[in-house]
Amino acid sequence: MQVASLEQKKNPYRILVAEDSPTQQRIIMTVLGREGFDVIIAGDGIEAAGRAFQENPDLVVLDIEMPKMNGYQVCRLLRDDYRTAHIPVIMLTSKTQETDKFWGLKTGADLYVAKDFQLAGLADAVHDLLEKSGPDAGGAGPRCPMPNRPAPGEQEVDVLSRVNDLLDRKLYEATLINEISKLNTLSEDCAVTIDSVLTLIAKVTDCDICAIALTNELRFFIHVHCAVGASYFEEARRQATGAAAQYLRPGASADQLAVEVDADPVFLKGERPELDGIKSMLVIPLKARAETIAVLVLTSPRTDAFLESTQRLLKIIENPAGLLVDNARLHEGARRLAITDGLTHLYNHRHFYELLEQEFNRAGRYDSDMSLIMADIDSFKMVNDSFGHQTGDEVLTALAGVITREVRDIDIVARYGGEEIAVLLPQTGVGQAVDVAERIREAVEAHDFNLPGGGAVTLSLGVAGLAQSKKAGGASLVQAADAALYEGKKAGKNRVVSAGDA
Ligand code: GH3
Ligand code: MG
Ligand code: MG
Repeated sequence: MQVASLEQKKNPYRILVAEDSPTQQRIIMTVLGREGFDVIIAGDGIEAAGRAFQENPDLVVLDIEMPKMNGYQVCRLLRDDYRTAHIPVIMLTSKTQETDKFWGLKTGADLYVAKDFQLAGLADAVHDLLEKSGPDAGGAGPRCPMPNRPAPGEQEVDVLSRVNDLLDRKLYEATLINEISKLNTLSEDCAVTIDSVLTLIAKVTDCDICAIALTNELRFFIHVHCAVGASYFEEARRQATGAAAQYLRPGASADQLAVEVDADPVFLKGERPELDGIKSMLVIPLKARAETIAVLVLTSPRTDAFLESTQRLLKIIENPAGLLVDNARLHEGARRLAITDGLTHLYNHRHFYELLEQEFNRAGRYDSDMSLIMADIDSFKMVNDSFGHQTGDEVLTALAGVITREVRDIDIVARYGGEEIAVLLPQTGVGQAVDVAERIREAVEAHDFNLPGGGAVTLSLGVAGLAQSKKAGGASLVQAADAALYEGKKAGKNRVVSAGDA
C-alpha cells in the first residue's frame, strides 16, 4: 500500500475519524498516516462517540452522513460533555450547501473540510487546529487514553441514552427561549413585561422569590412565587436589595430602589418559621447593548437550590431576558416622554385631551359625574419681567408640585398651556370640585416660591362640571371652565369661579 512506501513522520497525536465508507476510510488513513498521526477509525456515529469518550483523542474528524447517528449529533454530544468539550472537531462532508455548514458550525464544529477527490485540505486543517489547541496555545497537548473501556453493547446504550438526554434538554431550552420571545414586549407598563419574565423564571427554577432591579431607573420588581410568610419575605427583600445594589448606577444606593411587589396577599401573611431563612441566592446581571441594565436575583429557602442545571438554563435565557427588559424600559421611557411636559413633568396638552375624552366617555357609560378645573397664574408676565424667565420656570415647576399634592391620585393634572394648568376630577360633582379649587388656591397663595422680596404667586381658577358643559364632549367642558376662569380674572384674580355661577 502507498502508505507503507512513504516515510513515516513521528507524531504523538491521536486522531479519531468517523467515516462509514471504506473507500473514504482508506483515503483518510493515507492522508493522515502520511503525517504520522495515530489514526483510530469508527464506522458509525455511535461507535465514534463511544470511542471519543474512552480514548480521549486529540482531534476528531467527523463525516456528516453516517449510519446510526450522524456527525452533527456526535459533535453536539462531544461538546456537551466536559471531558470531550475541548477536543477540536473537523466536519468532513461532500455537502457544500451553506445551510449544512451553518448547522455544522452551530453544533460546535471548529472547521469544515470539503470531501473532494484527494481530501487535499484535511492534513493542513488538522495541523492548524492541533496547533491552535496544543500546549503552546494553552491547550492540553497530546492526551492519554482513558482507562476502563466498557463492553461494546454497554457503550452503545450509554451513547444512545446520552443523545436522548441531550436532545431533550436542547428541546427544553429552545422551548424556553421561544416562550420568552412570546412574552408581551409592547405593554405600556414596564412592570407588566418584567413580571411576565419573572413569572416564567419562577416556573422553571427552584426559587420562591425572584426579582429584577433596573439599574438606572432604580426600580425593583419582586415576584413572590409561593407562600413565604411575612418575616421570610422581609429577609428576602433585604438580601435581594443588597445583592442588586452593587450593580446600580454610580452614586445610587439600595435604599433608593423603589420596590414594587407582585404577590398574592395570602403569600405574605402569617409566619412560616419552618422556612428558616434564605439558604440559596443567585444574582445574574442582565445586559443589553454591552451595558448592565438590570439584575436578576433568585432566592430559595433550600441549600443548593441553584445548581449547575439551573445556572445553565439561566445562561440561556439571560440574553433574551435582558433584551426584553431593556425594550420594555426604553418603550416606557419613550412613552413617558411623549405624554409629559418636559418642564413640569405634568401630562402635556395632547395627552390631557386623550384622557379627557376617555374620562368623558367613561362618565357617560357609568352615568357618573366629572369636573374640570382650569387654573391660570395671575400676572405671570410680571414674574418673568421682574425676575427673569428662569425664575418663572422654577415657579411653574414648584406650582405643579403644590397642585399635585392637593388632589387625589385618580385626578389628572396637566399643563394645558404656558402658565395654565388643567385638573380633571373623575366622579366629582362641580360643588366638590369648587372645594378642591379653593383648596388649591389657598395652598398656592400660602406657598413660598422663593421669589426675591418674598412675593406671593396666586391663581385664578374656573370650575365646570358635566351639567355646565351640557355633556357635549370633553372640549365643551374645557370651554365652560375656561369661561369661568375668564370671569375670575375680570373680577380681580386670585379667586375661584364656577361655571354655574358665571
Ligand atoms: P393674567 O393674570 O391675565 O393671566 O396675566 P398673565 O401675565 O399671567 O398672562 P399673560 O397671558 O399676559 O402672560 C402669560 C405669561 O406666561 C407670558 C409668558 O411669557 C409666560 N409663560 C408662559 N409659559 C412660560 C414658561 O414656560 N416659562 C416661563 N418662565 N414663562 C412662561
Ligand atoms: Mg396668567
Ligand atoms: Mg394665560
